[in-house]
Amino acid sequence: MTSATTSRTRPAGVPAQRSSPKVASLRIGLIGTGRIGTDHIRRLTELTAGAEVVAVSDVDTDRAREVAGGLASGRVTAGAHELIADDDVDAVVVSSWGPTHEEYVLACIAAGKPVFCEKPLATTQDACRRIVEAEVAAARRYVQVGYMRRYDPSYRTLKAVVDSGEIGAPLLVHSGHRNASVPGHYTGAMTITDTAVHDFDVARWLLDEEIAAVTVLTPKRNRGGGGDLPDPLLILLESESGVLVDVEVSVNIRYGYDIRGAVVRETGTVSLADGVPVVVRSGGRVGGPLHKDWQPRFAEAYDAELRDW
Ligand code: NAP
Repeated sequence: MTSATTSRTRPAGVPAQRSSPKVASLRIGLIGTGRIGTDHIRRLTELTAGAEVVAVSDVDTDRAREVAGGLASGRVTAGAHELIADDDVDAVVVSSWGPTHEEYVLACIAAGKPVFCEKPLATTQDACRRIVEAEVAAARRYVQVGYMRRYDPSYRTLKAVVDSGEIGAPLLVHSGHRNASVPGHYTGAMTITDTAVHDFDVARWLLDEEIAAVTVLTPKRNRGGGGDLPDPLLILLESESGVLVDVEVSVNIRYGYDIRGAVVRETGTVSLADGVPVVVRSGGRVGGPLHKDWQPRFAEAYDAELRDW
C-alpha cells in the first residue's frame, strides 16, 4: 500500500520536484499467538519491510496480552471477529489451531481483507470448498495458505530441474514426512489434515496437476506413538495424467525431523539432498546433525512466504 505526497505550494518558476513515495505500513492483525503465530509476528515486525502488527487475539488472553506487550503499537482485541472487523487492521494472519480456520477465513473474505491462513485451510473437504466458493463469489484473491515448502530453496531448485524438462516427463514422486514426535493433543485425523497436507501441496505444485485419486494404507503401527495413532501412514496419490506419488508420514520416528522428496522421470531422477546442514566425518562414520523440528528446517522458507504475502 503506497501513497504519494506532492507539494501543493510551489513558487513560480521552480520546477516540480518528484517527491519520493511515502510508503504506509500494511497494518496486520494476527489471530493465534502460539508457536508459529509468535514466530510470524517476529518475521513481520523484524524481517518484512512495510509490515506492522497492530492487533492480536488468542483464546488465551494472557498470552495475547504478553505478545502484544512486546509490540511497538500492538493491542489485544476482544476476540478474533473484533480483530477482523477492526478498521485499523488491513490484513489478517490466522495461526490459531486448524478447526478455527474456516470461520476466521470466511469472516476475512466477507470483510474484504486479505488473509494469510496457516495450514490447513480448514479441516474438512466441505469447509475448504465453502472457503473456495466464498473467494470465487468475491471475485478476488483474498487467501494464501501457509505452504512454505514452495519457498524453500531446496524445493525450488528441485522444481526448477523438474520444470526444465531435461530429464524427461515425471513418472513417480516419493515424499517422506518424518517428525521426531508430536504433541499429546495430536489426533489420527491430523496425520492427514496437519501433516500430509504439505506433501499433497508439494505434489500438485511440482507436477502442475491436480490429484485424481487417493489411497491411504495403514501398515503395522509404531509402538512409540501411543494410543491408536495410525503411524506410519503410506498414502498413494494418482495425478490426472497418471503420475503416482507415494507419501510416507511418520510422526513419532524419534531420530529427528526429516523431509524427503524425489521425482523419478524418464531419463533421470532429482531428489532433495540429505537433510543435514553439515556432514561430519569422525570415528569411522560419516553423518551429521538433523533438524529437531520444522522451525530451523524451513526458517528461510517461512521468512520468504510472509514477505511474498
Ligand atoms: P499452538 O502453539 O497450539 O498455537 C495455536 C494458538 O491458537 C494457541 O495459542 C491457541 O490457544 C490459540 N487458539 C486456539 N483456538 C483459538 C481461537 N478460537 N481463537 C484464537 N486463538 C485460538 O499451535 P501452532 O503449532 O502454533 O499451530 C497453529 C497453526 O499453525 C495450526 O493450524 C498448525 O497446523 C499450523 N502450523 C503450520 C506449520 C507449517 O509448517 N506451515 C508449522 C506449525 C504449525 P490455546 O493454546 O489456549 O488452545
